[in-house]
Amino acid sequence: MPELPEVEIIRRQLEPSLKGKTILHVGVPDPSITTPLRPRAFGSRLRGKKIMAVSRRGKYLRLELQGGEMLVIHLRMTGVLAFKERVIKKYERRHLRLVIGLSGSSSLFFWDQRRFGTARILQSDEARSFFGRLGREPLKRSFNAMVLQRLLDSRKQPLKSFLLDQSKIAGIGNIYADEALFRAGIHPLRPAGSLSVTEVRRLNRAIKATLREAISMAGSSIDTYRDARGQRGRFQEAFRVHRRVGEPCSGCGGTVEKIRVGGRGTYYCPGCQE
Ligand SMILES: [Zn+2]
Repeated sequence: MPELPEVEIIRRQLEPSLKGKTILHVGVPDPSITTPLRPRAFGSRLRGKKIMAVSRRGKYLRLELQGGEMLVIHLRMTGVLAFKERVIKKYERRHLRLVIGLSGSSSLFFWDQRRFGTARILQSDEARSFFGRLGREPLKRSFNAMVLQRLLDSRKQPLKSFLLDQSKIAGIGNIYADEALFRAGIHPLRPAGSLSVTEVRRLNRAIKATLREAISMAGSSIDTYRDARGQRGRFQEAFRVHRRVGEPCSGCGGTVEKIRVGGRGTYYCPGCQE
């Protein structure tokens, strides 16, 4: 569930506290998280390493380590990465998957109820090829209407599915795809390659505006998302269509509808999106 805005918020919170710290201990309460490495090998590759930077690529959070390795974390559905031990009341001890003890007596806790989250160590060349396969970063200045046009060109898949494809644009998930399409006034089932030049410009602006506004509102907490300090986001209160089926549309007064596109619940307004 955490998408680009949520991971970016966590990154901004972690970086000042983690940069320059050394990993002293690695606790692995849930060995499945270190796959394909065994917990012991995982720990020994991290122990003693200094954290040089905390970066984000798509929905991946990256602890860049001295020597060029990276600890790459993906929160998937219910992962929570926080400084505090207790972030969500319903999370029990068995939901704790990874603990990273740092110099300066702070620790980072990875909680994950559904256990789809991952933590992988990549060497610098592995990281280059792994992230090289990932799509463009939509908030970068270099991502513009022309770039988007090229990505969309002659594709027949529905726009909603195109926006979720991490090999095209990295970081957009179900929430922000719905919200960006509503803001752009474009129907989620339109074939990706069918947009006019004006619509591509509108979609580019809508993607950036939606993601930026979500970051400024501390992300979306529908269910289990919390930031690194254990706080909820507020952007769910600003959703215009996502999860608002049957409610009046803020644009036209019509009714928000829900359909399935590529197996994903998709919310839109038939009056505003064509
Ligand atoms: Zn509407």
